[in-house]
Amino acid sequence: MMKTWNRVVLKLSGEALAGDKKTGFDEATCIEVAKQVKELVDNGVEVGIVIGGGNFWRGRTSETIDRTKADQIGMLATIMNSIYVSEIFRYVGMMTQVLTPFECGSMTKMFSKDRANKYFKKGMVVFFAGGIGHPYFSTDTATVLRAIEIEADVILLAKAIDGVYDSDPKTNPSAKKYDEITIGEVLDKKLAVIDLSATIMCLENKMPMMVFGLNEPNSIVNTLNGKFTGTKVTV
Ligand code: UDP
Repeated sequence: MMKTWNRVVLKLSGEALAGDKKTGFDEATCIEVAKQVKELVDNGVEVGIVIGGGNFWRGRTSETIDRTKADQIGMLATIMNSIYVSEIFRYVGMMTQVLTPFECGSMTKMFSKDRANKYFKKGMVVFFAGGIGHPYFSTDTATVLRAIEIEADVILLAKAIDGVYDSDPKTNPSAKKYDEITIGEVLDKKLAVIDLSATIMCLENKMPMMVFGLNEPNSIVNTLNGKFTGTKVTV
């Protein structure tokens, strides 16, 4: 493996963890992710992880309850996901810590940049759970914010789709995949790679992304070994 980066933040969608079941966890999928991340860690890459919550709950889909409360449930869902995946990572032989932007008793530790750095130095994978801790944000914004804060070299964005397209390939069979695109173009063309607030943060803070399909074999490792087939989003 070529070691291009010292520190990365990997974003996994909640749905990706659920496999075909669409809800909860698919253990085989999570173990496969864990083995790939271990390859990165074994090659000296520091890995931070952000996981979505869509396999349990999405704040904005509720039409009945208060949005702030719905988003709190969503943030808690991302913590359940991080605790689960963190344990799967330990099962395959990695050391992990789960950090949250608010207290969860003894279940997680409070996020701070210094604390994250301390764990990275010890060779641990650090999970950034609970989003940014505020409603009306997403784990996309949490991914970009944490990546900027901890001075990551790049965001690895593992999605259900294998890259960035000029239109939705589900509805347009002649949709074209980009090998490379700038974050400015993503914004101009309104390509929904990550949500708008997160896109603007990427642009303002010059944070590049590698976008790829989690279901493609070895796709996480391939972001570092020259066999990448997704889309590079440059700054
Ligand atoms: N969420 C939030 N603040 C954050 C991160 C997440 O309120 O900083 C909530 C929000 O309700 C969101 C849910 O947690 O719908 C799950 O996060 P994810 O980013 O997966 O949501 P999605 O973008 O899939 O709706």
